[in-house]
Amino acid sequence: MSVTLDLSRASAPKAPAKINLSGLTRPALARALVEGEVCAPDKGRMRAEQLWRWMHHRGVTDFDHMTNVAKDTRALLSDRFTVSRPEVAERQVSADGTRKWLIRYAPGIEAETVYIPDVGRAGALCVSSQVGCTLNCTFCHTGTQALVRNLTAAEIVAQVQVARDDLEEWPSDREDRRLSNVVFMGMGEPLYNLDGVADAMDIISDNEGLALSRRRITVSTSGVVPELKALGERTGAMLAISLHATNDALRDELVPINRRYPLKELMNAIRAYPGLSNARRVTFEYVMLKGVNDSPAEARALIQLIRGIPAKINLIPFNPWPGSPYECSDWGTIEAFAAIVNKAGYASPIRTPRGRDILAACGQLRSESEKMRASERRALSAS
Ligand code: SAH
Ligand code: SF4
Repeated sequence: MSVTLDLSRASAPKAPAKINLSGLTRPALARALVEGEVCAPDKGRMRAEQLWRWMHHRGVTDFDHMTNVAKDTRALLSDRFTVSRPEVAERQVSADGTRKWLIRYAPGIEAETVYIPDVGRAGALCVSSQVGCTLNCTFCHTGTQALVRNLTAAEIVAQVQVARDDLEEWPSDREDRRLSNVVFMGMGEPLYNLDGVADAMDIISDNEGLALSRRRITVSTSGVVPELKALGERTGAMLAISLHATNDALRDELVPINRRYPLKELMNAIRAYPGLSNARRVTFEYVMLKGVNDSPAEARALIQLIRGIPAKINLIPFNPWPGSPYECSDWGTIEAFAAIVNKAGYASPIRTPRGRDILAACGQLRSESEKMRASERRALSAS
């Protein structure tokens, strides 16, 4: 009698994942190289500097392209580490030039990144800080997504690298670069992942690498009050606040984190944000919801609320998504609202919706990750 073993169902023994060097901060990179016995402890910093230029200035994704690294060292490196990119599961380009990538970090762990041309100095990349979001703002598509985990610094940096690849913007110091700004306005609440965001900012703002100035990096938060000071001190990021309402009753409904950190506390924390000045103003984001928060009285209440704060107000026409419970305010209403705010001396640009046709506009991002079955999720987190 013979026995046939059905090997197709047996899971292959798992090799330990190699550390991706292109997502480490400089000190962590030096440590990894020493611990991986690629170089002696006293050579760690120098070797890290050499690799840094290749990864973040040149954008290489293969050790073999690092031509000033000895061949046997390259072999050692690729034996222990990687510098590859995560998989781009989907790429979409909007009629208006906006590009959106769905990045798959691992099975079921996906996040979206959006490049918007002609924003900031040249163009802005909207990056995600989490897969999904634990908060449930009622107008936001991401908030309806169940599966949530923080993205690592490496996974955040990879979003910038993927965009640079696609825009063909290596080396990093090109004069004509189209990616000049970064906004943490994709999926997730960045202040629930401050460690990841701060490390990612250290990497992408490094002058010998991706060289995106911290003044061109904006972190948007729904108002995680206890983390605001640390954000300013650790990152020097420009601050954006998702305000959307001028009284607690309405904000409790639209942005439920307001129940924990009401407007008074939020405004006090914003006034104390490190480095706030006329040259470094806070941006208040205000989504225009028809008949909900868009009256002239609310425009006046907004001015009262932010009095004395160096600020500008971004009016965001509501972007609908499948099943969304709101409508966007009429154009005339938005203009009237903007005029009142403007008259009080605040810049109040109306943000033209970009990439709506590919669901890439503010609040439309949502990966399919949550469609994973609960059993698959358990298996993943156990592995
Ligand atoms: N979690 C952070 C950053 C991501 S959301 C935050 O809430 O600030 C980025 C911006 O898009 C926020 O200002 C958010 O309020 C806004 N937004 C969410 N859903 C939207 C929608 N459907 N239409 C327009 N803007 C939306
Ligand atoms: Fe989360 Fe921001 Fe969406 Fe609110 S608006 S659910 S905080 S991503």
